[in-house]
Amino acid sequence: MQKEEDPDVTASWAIALHGGADATPGREYGHVEAHMAALLDETAEWLAASESAVDVAQKAVQALEACGHHIAGKGSSPNQDGVWELDAAIMDGSTRSAGAVSALEGFISPIAVARDVMDVTPHVLLAGNGAAKLARERGHDKVSNPSAYYDPAVKDPLPANAAGHGTVGAVVLDTEGRLAAATSTGGLLNKTPGRVGDSPIIGAGTWADRSVAVSCTGHGEYFMRTAAAASVAARVKYGHEDVASAAAAVIDEVGDLGGRGGLIALGADGTLSLPFNSRGMKRASANSSGLREVKIFA
Ligand code: ASP
Repeated sequence: MQKEEDPDVTASWAIALHGGADATPGREYGHVEAHMAALLDETAEWLAASESAVDVAQKAVQALEACGHHIAGKGSSPNQDGVWELDAAIMDGSTRSAGAVSALEGFISPIAVARDVMDVTPHVLLAGNGAAKLARERGHDKVSNPSAYYDPAVKDPLPANAAGHGTVGAVVLDTEGRLAAATSTGGLLNKTPGRVGDSPIIGAGTWADRSVAVSCTGHGEYFMRTAAAASVAARVKYGHEDVASAAAAVIDEVGDLGGRGGLIALGADGTLSLPFNSRGMKRASANSSGLREVKIFA
């Protein structure tokens, strides 16, 4: 298992992004890396200009949804009925507010709708038609012709519920010391209609509190069965583990059950940890002390 830790814990802001666990050795990822590097620069500007962690997390994930390079937003695949059902969640660690959508059909940015669930409803998770109703009422951009809009990032013929590992996510620490996490996904490839993974489940695929922000990627059922994102936070809070040890232990637990994937975690002191047990994880990180890194494999 890869374990990475940034030794610089003095950053006044920090960010990590992911474009999904797993990658195929030998495949050309230059365009993915270039997009992530440019997005990292943009997010650095937003953070240096004192934008809030939750706004930056949302905007970063929206850009990853729109680019079509990942299995989220534009790059998502349809389910076995030919329907695009997308999941997303966002959490503001400073208030513990959270919003999520699952099996959302027909909208360009699931993370923007999740943000509205957080901001304008008393709920945390809206599913299916109810999520779409909110999105319509709030005027979110629609996908009027799904087969023309979506351009699946993975086009090979697929077995049912194949782990595509192209979820996108962001964890952010802003200059006020606030943490936030956001995650968006098309889910497993050729998935069972109605199947919902870990990404929109607060505490499984997404979590932020005052100590740590986490966004997961990988075979979601395993991340749900380990309450992966909240387990990182619990290890930090109750077990007094450092963020890197907590994150690595949770990926080990996922692996012990047979699951593959990774996560990005960011502590309130700026510690970044991006462990994975898959063949790679598209990931990027930056902080105000000059860290700028985009990586896919070890
Ligand atoms: N975790 C996502 C899910 O199971 C998939 C992924 O990360 O690629 O829906």
